[in-house]
Amino acid sequence: MASSLPDFVADIPIFDVHEHHLPEVFLQREVNLLQLFRQSYAGWTLARPYPLPSESRASDPMLDAAPATTWEALAPYLESSGSNSFVRNLVTAICELHGAGEAQITPSNWESLDAAVRAAHARPDWCPGILRRAGVEHVITDPYSDPLLDARATFGPNYSSVVRINAFACGWHPSSCDHNGNSGHALLQRCGIQAGTFDDYMQGLETLMDGLTAHHQVALKNALAYDRDVQFDPPDEALARRAWGQSAPTPAERKAFGDFVVDRCCTLAAQRNLPVQMHLGTALIRGSHPLHVAGLIERHPRTRFLLMHLAYPWSRDLLAMAFVYRNVWLDLTWSFLLSPSHFKLALHEAIEILPDESRLMLGGDNWHVEETYGAMHRARRLIGEVLEEKRRDGYFHASDAERLAAKMLHENASHFFGIP
Ligand SMILES: [Zn+2]
Repeated sequence: MASSLPDFVADIPIFDVHEHHLPEVFLQREVNLLQLFRQSYAGWTLARPYPLPSESRASDPMLDAAPATTWEALAPYLESSGSNSFVRNLVTAICELHGAGEAQITPSNWESLDAAVRAAHARPDWCPGILRRAGVEHVITDPYSDPLLDARATFGPNYSSVVRINAFACGWHPSSCDHNGNSGHALLQRCGIQAGTFDDYMQGLETLMDGLTAHHQVALKNALAYDRDVQFDPPDEALARRAWGQSAPTPAERKAFGDFVVDRCCTLAAQRNLPVQMHLGTALIRGSHPLHVAGLIERHPRTRFLLMHLAYPWSRDLLAMAFVYRNVWLDLTWSFLLSPSHFKLALHEAIEILPDESRLMLGGDNWHVEETYGAMHRARRLIGEVLEEKRRDGYFHASDAERLAAKMLHENASHFFGIP
């Protein structure tokens, strides 16, 4: 029996509702220390991997091959960005998993850590072993480099995936792609669907959704906050049809096409009892405020929305939405990596105002297993601290805190996604 709430939380198995475990990264056998930094949120401190509307990029810096590790390449993360929360999380996890008791990466130990990382990743049992050590029992991955991936066939029986709908919402022309370079037309063709007309395309989406369960795809993922604003207006079919077949539709036509596809996807998801995961906050920050999706949520009362990242920095607005709308659940993923102190503040409030205990779940949101390990370790610690503070303040009893913790880490996600 656990002696304290933090100990109790440390032992609960985790149902991880969001990772970016991609086959070309996660199953790669040649991984060095520098690559762990570049292919992580620590990497975002030096290179934001998505372009703003005023920018363009040749390739995704996170998916580029990493050169050999040098101290000169590591120092910008460790010295210039060393106080950043993403860097702190990754350094702690790397030292714990690959070190010999040291707490920091320094000019005198980086070479031995680099050798340990390369040796560990050469072993096929490294990643599954570290997930077990982190207490992660099931993973839902968002494989955005191949939205149609069958994660169970690729990674094993404890994996499912979500299907990103970004490419479909940007699919007014065969050559139009989302920010990850995916074409909606090409994805439909892989399912045997030739979309010659607007109506073919919409019918194709329906056929695609009918096949998801067979490929262990358990939800839709709307990450359009990285492609456009999230103000998904009521469908304007006439305007959406004007975008069809054009390589350069007007901004209003492009938006109407995306709005139409997103609305359609929400309807189709409800009919199939598939949840819709949605990125909110940061990203293209001028358009990612959570209240922008309030209209979409109200138009689709039967669709179950899993809203992500505490919509940082607008967590209070998001919590108020989860208080009002009974078809909204919250995926705490990433919020505790972004800011542990804000996470604790927001979790205190979430516990107090959410209408029932089913609403909270969490994930790691990472590319490599070291960052997932660190994220889960940190999430357990912060949740344990918040629950302990609430128990100490007399807000609730230890048994209430234990019941809620088991729901947050495992039971809610298992029920929500229908995976026992
Ligand atoms: Zn993510």
